[in-house]
Amino acid sequence: MRKVATAIALLSFLAIASSQELKTRPRPVTPVPQTSRALANNDPVYLALRNVKLGAEVIPVHGFRMHRDAGIFTFRSGAFYLLEPVNGRTTGAVFLGDAFFSLTPPTEVERRYLKILAKEEFVEQFGAAVFRFTDGTEEELRKAMDKAAELPSGDPGGLLKETQDQLRKRLKENLDVRLLQDLLSSQKGGKFVAFIHGRRFSGKLIYDIDPYGVVSYIPDPGPIFEAGPRVHEFFRLAPEEVALTAWDENHYGIWTSFHFSREYEAGTASSGEQNLPFVVTHQKLDTQIAKNAKLDGRAETSVTALRDGVRVLALDLFPTLRVDWVAGQDGQPLSFIQEGTEEDSDFAVLLPKELKKDESYTIITKYAGKNAVSDESNGNYYPIARDNWYPGQGFSTYATYEMSFRVPKGMKLAATGKLLRTVNEGNESLTEWESHAAQPVAGFNFGDFKRQEGRDLGNHYDIETDVNAESPSVVNSLRGSPYAGAMGTLSTVSMMKKAMAEAQVAMDLYTDYFGEEPYKRLAMTQQTAFNYGQSWPGLVFLPISYFFDSTTRHFMGYGNEHGFFKSLGPHEISHQWWGHTIGWNSYRDQWMSEGFAEGSASIFLQLIYTEHGLDEYREFWAHQRKILTDTNPQGKRAIDVGPLTLGYRLSTARTGVNITRDLIYPKGAYVFQMVRFMLQDNTVKDVDGRFKALMHDFTKTYSSRSATTEDFKAMVEKHMTREMDLEGNHKMNWFFNQYVYGTDYPHYKLENSFSFDTDGTVMMNFKISQSHVSDNFVMLVPLYVQVTKGQVVRVARIPMKGNTSSERRVRLAGLKVKPDRAMLAYFEDVLGEIENK
Ligand SMILES: [Zn+2]
Repeated sequence: MRKVATAIALLSFLAIASSQELKTRPRPVTPVPQTSRALANNDPVYLALRNVKLGAEVIPVHGFRMHRDAGIFTFRSGAFYLLEPVNGRTTGAVFLGDAFFSLTPPTEVERRYLKILAKEEFVEQFGAAVFRFTDGTEEELRKAMDKAAELPSGDPGGLLKETQDQLRKRLKENLDVRLLQDLLSSQKGGKFVAFIHGRRFSGKLIYDIDPYGVVSYIPDPGPIFEAGPRVHEFFRLAPEEVALTAWDENHYGIWTSFHFSREYEAGTASSGEQNLPFVVTHQKLDTQIAKNAKLDGRAETSVTALRDGVRVLALDLFPTLRVDWVAGQDGQPLSFIQEGTEEDSDFAVLLPKELKKDESYTIITKYAGKNAVSDESNGNYYPIARDNWYPGQGFSTYATYEMSFRVPKGMKLAATGKLLRTVNEGNESLTEWESHAAQPVAGFNFGDFKRQEGRDLGNHYDIETDVNAESPSVVNSLRGSPYAGAMGTLSTVSMMKKAMAEAQVAMDLYTDYFGEEPYKRLAMTQQTAFNYGQSWPGLVFLPISYFFDSTTRHFMGYGNEHGFFKSLGPHEISHQWWGHTIGWNSYRDQWMSEGFAEGSASIFLQLIYTEHGLDEYREFWAHQRKILTDTNPQGKRAIDVGPLTLGYRLSTARTGVNITRDLIYPKGAYVFQMVRFMLQDNTVKDVDGRFKALMHDFTKTYSSRSATTEDFKAMVEKHMTREMDLEGNHKMNWFFNQYVYGTDYPHYKLENSFSFDTDGTVMMNFKISQSHVSDNFVMLVPLYVQVTKGQVVRVARIPMKGNTSSERRVRLAGLKVKPDRAMLAYFEDVLGEIENK
C-alpha cells in the first residue's frame, strides 16, 4: 500500500514538472487591438461562395449514372445547371429532370437499419436536386453531356436559393465554411453533398460524403433530442464519411452512416479513425463573467494539422458568444467567419497561410456575449454552454488547459483541473486552473456556494461539494404557492453531506474497481436544473432535485422509484472514468460511457446502499429491463430497434425519440454487468478480482484518449476465462455479436427440485430452457441456490445453445440440508426475461 502511495506521489511530481514546461511554450505576440468584427465574414472567396448563383453552363443528360461511394444516381433525363465558378472552381450544380437514387450500405447492420426506416429497399425517385462539391464532379457531368437531350422546365435558380436558405435558417449549418476549407487548400477536395427532393420517402433527403467526417444536418436543437447543453455532441457522425439524413418532420433521422466503402474492403474501417483536418492540443482560456452573467472570453488555442493544406480552422463556439477579433501568433489580425446568432453561426478562422501536416499554430480569439450563462437570481448561475463556451472541438479530441476565471466577488467557482490560486481583486474573485492531464472538455460552475471539503476514503482525491446558499427564483416561486406547507425543506444546504459522502465512498470504490483516475480532484456542484446530472473531468453538475429531501421531491412529482436519486450521484462520478479518463471518438462507442456509468452505479447500489439488502439494486435492474422492453407510441421496443453501436442514431421519427436513452444506458449496463459476473470467482476472497484486473488494464491502456468498442472487446478477450470461451477460439465474438452488435433478448426458465442421495448429500434436479433466440445463440447461464436465509451461492454456469433446454441432476456436495430455492441470474447478471419457478 505504502509503495503505491510513493509511486503516486512521484507521478504527481512528474506531472507538475511537465506542466511547468508547458508554461514555457512561446506565447503569441500580443495583438494590436482591432475594431470589433471588422474582419468578420469579409474574405472575398467566402463572400463569393456565400452569394454564389447559377452560371451560364447547362449540361443536358440522358441515361447518365453517377456513383458516389455506396450511392448510385441514375439520371434518366434532364439537365444540370452549373454554379458560377468561385476562385476558378465549380462548387455545385442544380439538377432538374427525371432521376432516382439507390443506396446499399456496405455493412449488414446498416443495411438492416436502413430497411427498418425505409420499410423496403432504398430507391428514391426525384425530379430535382442540388449538388455541392469540391471533388471534381463538374468534370464527370461535362463528360456526360448529351447535346440531343431535351431541356426540362423548372426554376433551377429558385431551387439553389431554397437550399441556401434552408442551410442558413433551418439546418443552421454553414456549408460555405466547409467548401471554403477545400477552396483555400492546395490539396484536392473531396466533399460531395446532394440535397434530394425525393418523391417516395422524403422531400428533404441529404446524401453527404466528407473525408473529414460527415455532419448530420438535423436542425439544432432538433426535434429528436430534448434541448440541453450537450445537444450539439449528438450530431457528430465523424469519423464516418458517408451518411443519408432525412430532415422532414415525419421522417427525420440519420437513415444510414458508414465509412468509405473502400475502408471496409481494406479492413481499415474503425470508429477510432481520426480524420479531422487538425486537432486542438492546448487552450489558454481567460474568462470573465459579470453579475448579469455576460461572459467575456479570450482564448489562446493551439492546433496541430493532421494533414497538409489546412488553411481554415472550423471550431465550435456557442452562437451567442460573438467574436470581436481573432489574431494570429505573430499578432496579425485574422479574418474569421461567424454569421448571425439565429443562423448558421459556425465559427471559423482563416490562417495567414496553410499548415503542413504536424505543423502547429496558435490563434487568439476575443469573444463575448450573454445567454452562454444564465443568471437564475440569488447567486445562482446556470452555465448553458457546457462544451462550447470557448472555441474548441467538442468531445472529439484531448487537450491540456490553462484557465483563469473572474466572477463577481463573493461567488465561488469550481472548474475542471487543479486550482492554482484564488485572489480577490476589487469587485472580482479570480481563480487560476491547470489541467492535471489532457481532457476531452473543460468546464466550470459557480455561484454563491457553500463549500465543504474532504478526501475520499482511499485518500487519493480532494473532494468538495458546492451548493447554493440560497434558492434560485424558480424554487422560491414554489415557496409562495398554496401547497408550500405540504413541502419539505427547499434548502439544498442540509443535503450537501449526502453529495460529500457519496463522492467519498464512490471515488474510493471505483478506484478499487477501475484504477486511479488522472484528475485528482472532484467537485460535486449544484445546478439549477431539475432533471439531469452531468459530469466533466473533476466536476459534477448535480440537479437541484438531488439535494431536496424526499418530501419535497415527492411533492414536485419526482418519486424515488427505480432509485434515480440513489444511482444519479454514482453514475455521474463514474463518468470520471467512462467518458473522461477514457473517451469516445465516435457515436458508435458512446454506449460504453453511459452503459458503464450505469453499471458502475449498480455496483454502488449492490455494495453500498445495503440497508434494505438488494432491494435498491433489484429495483434499479427491474427498471433497466422495463425501459428496454416497454413499447413506445411508434410501436417499438428499444431492445429490438437496433444494436448499441447505433447510439444516438436510434432516435428517429419512425423509431421514436426515446430509443437512444432507453437502449444505450440499460443495455450498455447489462453488457458491463454480464462481463463482470462471468469473470467472478467465488473461490477467492475478492470475487471481482478478475473483473478489476480487466478494468484497470482498460483504463490504464486508454487513459486520456478514446477507446472503441473493438478495443474493449480485445481487452475482454485478454482477460477472459476458459469457461467464457464458448466457441473454443479464445474470442468473445459470440458475446459481442449477440449483445453489442445484435438485438437478441432471450427468455430463460428454471424448473427444479431437491432430493437426498443415498449417502445423504443434497441432489438438485433442474431443467433450464433458453428461448426467443437464433439457433446459434450461446450463453453461459449462472445458476444459484439460496442455502440459508440471505446466503446465496453459485452452483454452476450452464452453457446453452439455441432454443433448447438442459436437464440435469447434480450433487450439492457439502450440503446436509435442502436449500430454500434455486434461481437463474440471481444477481440480475443475464440480459433477458428470467422466470424462476
Ligand atoms: Zn451519463
